[in-house]
Amino acid sequence: MCNNGNNNISIISTASIRACTHFIFDPEHYRKDGTCRCNDGSHTEMGEWGYKWDGEKWISPEDGE
Ligand SMILES: [Zn+2]
Repeated sequence: MCNNGNNNISIISTASIRACTHFIFDPEHYRKDGTCRCNDGSHTEMGEWGYKWDGEKWISPEDGE
């Protein structure tokens, strides 16, 4: 069966989410190849979500200094 109708939803694989340090569910957080963008400084949505850029990666404010 072909499934090319209205299913235009981005699916994030469980493996991708589990590979993410913060287990982020938002599709914007993942690249097309399934890797997450915790180490992408241009991914400024994370700032809006409350994470901080430490120069190499996005960290949770609760992750300490
Ligand atoms: Zn991530």
